[in-house]
Amino acid sequence: MNKSDTERIIGILSEFDYIETDIEKDADLLIINTCSIRQLSADKAYSKLGVWGKWKKSNPNLKIAICGCVAQQDKEKVRKRAPYIDLIFGTHNIYELPELIKKIEDNEKVCAITNKPFVCNQNDFKIIRKKSVNAWIPIIEGCNNFCTYCVVPFTRGRERSRYPDEIIQEAKNILNEGFKEITLLGQNVDSYGKDLNDKNITLANLLRELNKIDGEFRIRFVTSYPSDITDDLINAVDECEKVCKYFHIPMQSGNSRILKEMNRHYTKEQYYEIVSKIRNRFPDVAITSDFIAGFPGETEQEFQDTLDAIDELELDYSNTAAYSPREFTKAGKMVDKFLPEDVKYERLERLNEKNRQACLKSNEKFIGKELKVLVEDKTEKDGIITLNSRADNNKIVHFVDNSLNVGDFANVKITKAQTWCLYGEPVV
Ligand code: SAH
Ligand code: SF4
Repeated sequence: MNKSDTERIIGILSEFDYIETDIEKDADLLIINTCSIRQLSADKAYSKLGVWGKWKKSNPNLKIAICGCVAQQDKEKVRKRAPYIDLIFGTHNIYELPELIKKIEDNEKVCAITNKPFVCNQNDFKIIRKKSVNAWIPIIEGCNNFCTYCVVPFTRGRERSRYPDEIIQEAKNILNEGFKEITLLGQNVDSYGKDLNDKNITLANLLRELNKIDGEFRIRFVTSYPSDITDDLINAVDECEKVCKYFHIPMQSGNSRILKEMNRHYTKEQYYEIVSKIRNRFPDVAITSDFIAGFPGETEQEFQDTLDAIDELELDYSNTAAYSPREFTKAGKMVDKFLPEDVKYERLERLNEKNRQACLKSNEKFIGKELKVLVEDKTEKDGIITLNSRADNNKIVHFVDNSLNVGDFANVKITKAQTWCLYGEPVV
């Protein structure tokens, strides 16, 4: 979501004749788009601001701005820690940037943080997309779930879905520009439409509409909340040939007591049922997940349930993190149940090791199989061009071919598997 916001910010700035530079020291305007999902991400933002603040002394024309979740959540703290900042703007204020930029250009110090989402047709604003093959389209922002560890509902507000017409128009524009893959984004992408009071506006129906657009391209959607995956959504994925057979469904913990403490609305058994339903329907599907190690009060046995779940569910890949207490959240107040840092990080190590084994095992299943891939990038070494591509099920596949270009689709027979990627040969 942050990457997509950044593309929108760069698009707006381009209207002001700003051009992007990779050399931070050359910039007249530096903006940091922050994430506060874990303390580590927030700390990184503050340390970057410290460096930039020093540059301001030698370059008084330099403007510094901060946006994203740290800005939204911590505006007072940001002001105190980095008083030299010119602009602080929140997650709901991106589309006000044209006015905000004018103000800081007139040397005003500006803080624009609202809790009320800015209502606009997002297609009225230019977007400069970073990649040339895959484009992200946010379809729902915010979250209503209030998982006890998570700060997102406090920084991004309640769920707001965009209207299908606006999304379909954005998708058509993107495809006309030559993109070959669109990824629909949402904190809970499968909650799409619930706030719009029209029972026909669902993720399943949106996929069906997007699938009708002409041309060779593919569609992905992330992130799915386990208990919001409906049979209709699974049917839509099945019916729509352009929709990838890939689901990212964070489980967070393999233990039902911990899931309840996390305020996740499903049990371990219900999660297992969803996974088996999807696997039965799509034999080559990849299912990925997120897990948190060391949630307050998690026992060794409860953590073991998470490791077992990765094995039993044959998960293809998982994002992992040690629990990080966040301000405003319910778990952040469970101080007497916090686990020692060394216990959390030792569990994270074991979780990562389990994930590595699971990934390799999942990748090995594809040896000898044929996958349809989209070429994302090329690398050349010693005169040999390797294509870096992604299969429908999100697996990374490297292969050698001189006739294909970035943005081309190809069928590849998998010959070798490593932990994080596959290797293959083009099928002619
Ligand atoms: N909406 C998605 C997740 C969004 S946040 C979902 O419901 O699954 C992305 C991931 O960050 C989460 O899946 C979780 O694993 C991790 N995360 C969120 N808050 C965290 C915290 N306080 N400590 C550690 N990891 C956290
Ligand atoms: Fe955070 Fe839970 Fe919402 Fe995901 S569903 S964004 S983890 S509160």
